[in-house]
Amino acid sequence: MTNAAAVADQIESELAPLSAAVSHAWWELNIAATDENERRRVELETALSDFLSDGDRFASIEAARAEADGLVRRRLDLLRHAFLPQQLPADLRSRIIELEASVDMRFSLHRGDLDGRRVDENEIRRILRESDDLGERRAAWETSKTVGAEVSDDVRELARLRNRAAHTLGFRDWFALSVAMAEMDEGKLIATLDEADRATAEPFARWKAELDERLAARFGSPAAGLQPWHYADAFFQEVPVEGGVDIDPFLESADLVELSRRTFDGIGLETRAVLERSDLFPREGKCQHAFCVDLDREGDIRVLANVVPGQQWMDTMLHELGHATFDGGFDDSLPWLLRDTHLVATEGIAILMGRLASDAEWLEGVAGVAPGEVAALSGALRAARAAEMLVFTRFVLVMTNFERSLYADPDSDLDARWWELVERYQLVTRPAGRSSPDWAAKIHIACAPVYYHTYLYGHIVASQLGATLVRECGGLVDRPAAGRLLSERVFAPGLSVRWDRLIEQATGEALTATYFGRDIAAV
Ligand SMILES: [Zn+2]
Repeated sequence: MTNAAAVADQIESELAPLSAAVSHAWWELNIAATDENERRRVELETALSDFLSDGDRFASIEAARAEADGLVRRRLDLLRHAFLPQQLPADLRSRIIELEASVDMRFSLHRGDLDGRRVDENEIRRILRESDDLGERRAAWETSKTVGAEVSDDVRELARLRNRAAHTLGFRDWFALSVAMAEMDEGKLIATLDEADRATAEPFARWKAELDERLAARFGSPAAGLQPWHYADAFFQEVPVEGGVDIDPFLESADLVELSRRTFDGIGLETRAVLERSDLFPREGKCQHAFCVDLDREGDIRVLANVVPGQQWMDTMLHELGHATFDGGFDDSLPWLLRDTHLVATEGIAILMGRLASDAEWLEGVAGVAPGEVAALSGALRAARAAEMLVFTRFVLVMTNFERSLYADPDSDLDARWWELVERYQLVTRPAGRSSPDWAAKIHIACAPVYYHTYLYGHIVASQLGATLVRECGGLVDRPAAGRLLSERVFAPGLSVRWDRLIEQATGEALTATYFGRDIAAV
């Protein structure tokens, strides 16, 4: 064994248990936001951070990288990405960890107050989808933003601290550091965002003008006077029923967990063990969002969700189980460091699976909707999917451009910057006189920083993989060959190849927005 391989083996064997302990603590805090769980998470994250900040270990990684090649070099590159951002003074590291945990916990504990009633995000979402009472809609929308006012000062402080860390390491700001550590090129990222803007601006404007006409008719308000609370979710990142197809009635009495299991069974991917370990339904004191976590890279994979009937949670369950099957599909012989996913590849798989919740073949074959009903809807379903991609892309443009501004200057007028971007990309008007930190109500800005562009790449990858599956397997639903293709070409290699190379190997083509553009054209 070479010296370089020995360095990788040694550090990996110490890092694996520390990392698993942090994942466990993080899971516990998200299913029960208690002071004890917060204390435990901070303690374990500090232990991990202390390990990663060790200068001697970092120097040995750098020295070993110089003489390594092949998979050993790959493992050392990944270690470098983990260690480099932690080469910081201890007090700065601990302030970041403590503040992140504290903000995260406040998001978990927060429930809005609507006329004296405690409401969770599912309830706010229900009102914005269903209510015709504009007063109630406005109140629900405003309630959805109250968490922003609670945490915004701390989110700005987090941005300052993260920037101080980035400067110490020689990066322009935290945005630049994050993108580099994710093996992405910032110049290419900006070019991709510009390309996405150009490809979606016109079709989105056209689609939204039609949507606004329908919303104006529904609410009896002129289209020019529509406010953010006329749309069906607090950030207008989803398609209102008026702009797509309402699939909720088909899923009203369905067991979404059972349908999820059935979907993956149909392509030969096992999800039972994951579902048994998961925490899937809403509860007080629990994180209101959804995620999948691979706790130990040895098979303990879990999903957190807050399932209620309807398409949104169907999509989310399929999405999270997409992540889970990826995490469960690595080649067993891979070393621990390589039994992991790149964010873009795993979001690509998750989005590919989530899209099934509005897929004609899936509705008929898995959800059991009558063939005649599905046939009548199939054109509209494709158009609705295209609308979803348009709406979501425009929101990613808001988020990513906002985060660039946040890290460029955390003390700037961010409240105004947010609305300037919302007006430009989403064509939603800022309510007259509105001045509050509405941006801070989006949990990702605090707790999953510089991540949102990954979802746009995920959509691009999902479209490209989807085209490959159609070409080679005839599609995805109930085709075990499709599950095999994904397992062999995407899941098994783990991080042994770079994400862009992985996509190229799996699809026979370098990453391209061609198929994404084709999917959007169905609007
Ligand atoms: Zn995801």
